[in-house]
Amino acid sequence: MTDADLMLSLIYAGLVLAAVLSYSWLRRRAEIASRRSLADSEEAGLTEAPSLHPVVDPAICIGSGGCVRACPEKAIGIVDGKAVLVSPAACIGHGACAAACPVEAISLVFGSERRGVDIPEVTPEFESNVPGLYIAGELGGMGLIRKAAEQGRQAMASIARRRDPSFDLDVVIVGAGPAGIAAGLGAIEARLRYALIEQEEGLGGSVLHYPRRKIAMTAPVNLPVVGQMRFVEVSKEKLLDFWLDIVRRARLQIRYGVRMEGVECDGAGFSVHTTAGVLRTRSVLLAIGRRGTPRKLGVPGEELPKVVYRVLDPEQ
Ligand SMILES: Cc1cc2nc3c(=O)[nH]c(=O)nc-3n(C[C@H](O)[C@H](O)[C@H](O)COP(=O)(O)OP(=O)(O)OC[C@H]3O[C@@H](n4cnc5c(N)ncnc54)[C@H](O)[C@@H]3O)c2cc1C
Ligand code: SF4
Repeated sequence: MTDADLMLSLIYAGLVLAAVLSYSWLRRRAEIASRRSLADSEEAGLTEAPSLHPVVDPAICIGSGGCVRACPEKAIGIVDGKAVLVSPAACIGHGACAAACPVEAISLVFGSERRGVDIPEVTPEFESNVPGLYIAGELGGMGLIRKAAEQGRQAMASIARRRDPSFDLDVVIVGAGPAGIAAGLGAIEARLRYALIEQEEGLGGSVLHYPRRKIAMTAPVNLPVVGQMRFVEVSKEKLLDFWLDIVRRARLQIRYGVRMEGVECDGAGFSVHTTAGVLRTRSVLLAIGRRGTPRKLGVPGEELPKVVYRVLDPEQ
C-alpha cells in the first residue's frame, strides 16, 4: 500500500467515524428532548390522548425514528431505543407515524386502559341501529378531515333514498364541521329538503378551534357540487376561507347558533329538538364530532373577545 492509499483509507475511516459519531450525537439529543417532553406531559397530568392515537408494539419497534420525523405535532419520540407517545395531548390522530413505520409496529386506537371509548355501530352507509339515524365523522370513530368529509358525503347518498314527501324535511344535519359541510353539499346535490344546524356562530367544527396558523395535514377529498378539495398541507385560516367560499358558491344554508338538544324517534321519522324549536324530519345525520361543548360560566363579560374556552395560541 502506497502512502497515498494509506492517506485515502484514513480519510474514509475518519469520515465514517465522524458520520457515526454525529448520528449517535443527534439520536442522543433527540432522546433527551423526548424524555423531557414525556416528563413534562407526566408532570402536567397530560398522559391521555384525546382521540385516535398510536400504540407502539415494543417487540416489533426497531427505533428507526421514521414516526418521529413523520409526526407534524412532535407528539411521538424515541425513548430507550423505542417509539413512545411522549406528548399524548398533542396527538391529533392523523396516523402519519403509523404510515411511516417501516416495520408496522404502530397501530391506531381509540381509548386507553384507563379510558375506554364507545364507538357507535353503523352500517357501511353510516346508519345506526335506529333506522334513519346516521352518524358521520369523528363521532363515528374516524378522526380526520378527509375521512369525516367522505363519510358525510356517503351517508347523504343513503339518506336520499329514504326521502318521503309527508315530512317537512328529508334530513336534519347536526354540526357544520368537515362531515356536516360535505353532507350539506350532498343534500344540495341530491335536491333534498335539509336543515343544517350548528351550535357555534362559525363553521369548521374542530378546525375553527385549531391554534392560530396551525397547518392542517389532509389528503384530496371529493366534495359534492364543488368537486375536489386538493389541499395536502394548509393553514387553518386558508382552510376555513376555502369552506366559507364553497358554502357561499353552493348557497349552502347553515343555521348558526342553533343547538340540538335532543332527538325523538316518532314512527317513520324524527323530531329534532333545538334551541330554535322542533324540526320534523325523515332522517337525521349526527356530525357533531367528539370535542363536546365547553360548559360556560354564565357570568357577565364571558362573551367578550378576550374570553376563550379553548387554547388558540400557545402564547396565550
Ligand atoms: C388540534 C387539532 C388538530 C388537528 N389536526 C388535523 C390535521 O392536521 N389533519 C386532519 O385530517 N385532522 C386533524 N384533526 C382532526 C379533525 O379536525 C377532526 O377529525 C374533524 O374536524 C372531525 O370532523 P367532524 O365534522 O366529524 O367533527 P367536528 O369538526 O368536531 O365538528 C362537529 C361540529 O358539530 C357541532 N356540534 C356539536 N354538538 C352540537 C349540537 N348539539 N348542536 C349543534 N351543533 C353541534 C360543533 O360545534 C362542531 O362545529 C385535528 C384535531 C384537533 C383537535
Ligand atoms: S397520530 Fe399523528 S399526531 Fe399522533 S403521533 Fe402519529 S403522526 Fe403524530
